[in-house]
Amino acid sequence: MKKIGIIGGGFAGTLSAVQLIEKSNLPCEIILINENDTLARGIAYNPYSQKHILNVITGKMSAFPDKPDHFLDWVMNQELFKEKDKSLIANSFLPRRFYGDYLCSIWEEAKKNAASKQIKLTIIDSKVKDLDVTDAHVELSLENEIKIPVDYCIIATGNNVPRNPRIKNMGFYKSRNYFQNPWKIESVKNAKEDSTVLIIGNGLTMVDTVFGLLEQGYKGDILSISPNGFNILPHRHNGLKYSKLTEELKEGIRLHELVTLVNNHIKSVREYGVSAEPVIDSLRPFTQKFWKSFSDAEKSIFMSRLRHLWGVARHRIPLHSHDKIQQLRIDGILQISAGKILDFNESDSFITTEYFDKKDKTIKQIKVSRIINCTGPETDLVNLENSFLKNCLLKGVLTQDFLKLGITTDADTFQVINADGKPHLNLFTIGSNLKGVLWETTAVNELRGQAEKIAEKLKT
Ligand SMILES: Cc1cc2nc3c(=O)[nH]c(=O)nc-3n(C[C@H](O)[C@H](O)[C@H](O)COP(=O)(O)OP(=O)(O)OC[C@H]3O[C@@H](n4cnc5c(N)ncnc54)[C@H](O)[C@@H]3O)c2cc1C
Repeated sequence: MKKIGIIGGGFAGTLSAVQLIEKSNLPCEIILINENDTLARGIAYNPYSQKHILNVITGKMSAFPDKPDHFLDWVMNQELFKEKDKSLIANSFLPRRFYGDYLCSIWEEAKKNAASKQIKLTIIDSKVKDLDVTDAHVELSLENEIKIPVDYCIIATGNNVPRNPRIKNMGFYKSRNYFQNPWKIESVKNAKEDSTVLIIGNGLTMVDTVFGLLEQGYKGDILSISPNGFNILPHRHNGLKYSKLTEELKEGIRLHELVTLVNNHIKSVREYGVSAEPVIDSLRPFTQKFWKSFSDAEKSIFMSRLRHLWGVARHRIPLHSHDKIQQLRIDGILQISAGKILDFNESDSFITTEYFDKKDKTIKQIKVSRIINCTGPETDLVNLENSFLKNCLLKGVLTQDFLKLGITTDADTFQVINADGKPHLNLFTIGSNLKGVLWETTAVNELRGQAEKIAEKLKT
């Protein structure tokens, strides 16, 4: 009986299992290994607060590529929503925990489906510590020296905790007032109010963290420092479609041509009082294709000069969340600065943060009570602590792309490429590990299709 191992039970791993069960007609065993008791929800849909909401509207969050209204229909069937207007809900932003409930309900159905098809499901709550590949099988090593051989393995490890910024005093990171993992409730609990809380980063997780701190009753000041201090943007034109730009996209377009084209279209929509978002959104179906066709030099230019702008334009928050953030800024509670962190030094009562302030072009010092790292998931495997991915890199089982964004993988088959440049026949990866190959590969929009595709390939 074919054994398929899946490492990671977040959206990507769980939906791969769900799709495998759906598509398989012969008995097989699916072994789903997930650490941290977050099966089906993963990191994103297991938030510590109801105030952490989806950044995509309900109507676009189906877990299945061929059933676009699946999430919306599930929501409308829940007691709380039965009397609500469907088009209103389709355009609303719901709590991520609720989306996690949706994924759990899909998983429960899939388990019943597996039982009826004689598909054996083995769920293991553990961490994969290492992995070895031979032509015959992939061997997964778990905690407690347990080894599990499987015929095929899908790596769906998703979001890694953020990297510690390089500072002079790297020993600081052992401090109990430093929170490397911003997705845990501890990062916002019991913050002292006599000095500022510092958030490193200025993206969606910064917003979640600010709301988390306030929910926990924190009443002090919050400072966010990020390389550019860009303003986070709201979703302003929900549903507004713009097609003029894509009509002008030509095959093999170069990065500089694309930038000029996008800027021209942004200028033109602004004449009608519309902001850049529909223009940016119209590129979404093409971003993977662009990325694949860019040269290494273009990718490097994108990463050094355009990545942050693109991130701000792409990763927006619901308007009401944006209003709250703006109000906090107006009230002087939240300050957003552009700068580079240089050092942290802790005394008995506070942490002195030294940073280069980009606006004033001076080195500044500020006393803070805690530091929360919201710089986004680490992608360089070398920097991952206690990770089998790092071991695999060192052993040559896998390699990473030159920008260190993820695992080198065949973009069409999801086969992991080894150090000899050869694709493994039995080792695959999907999700954010494909960032170097596809760039846009972390949201449900992409993951649901990847889960279906890998299941189509490995089904029995
Ligand atoms: C805070 C946050 C909010 C987001 N909000 C949205 C949104 O609103 N809409 C959207 O489309 N996308 C959103 N995303 C993008 C998100 O990455 C995807 O939607 C999706 O949840 C990713 O799922 P995943 O399975 O790839 O990764 P993860 O959710 O990170 O799941 C990976 C799982 O693998 C487990 N794991 C990792 N390593 C091992 C190991 N060695 N052994 C065993 N288990 C392991 C982890 O514990 C985890 O449970 C958000 C992401 C984050 C971080």
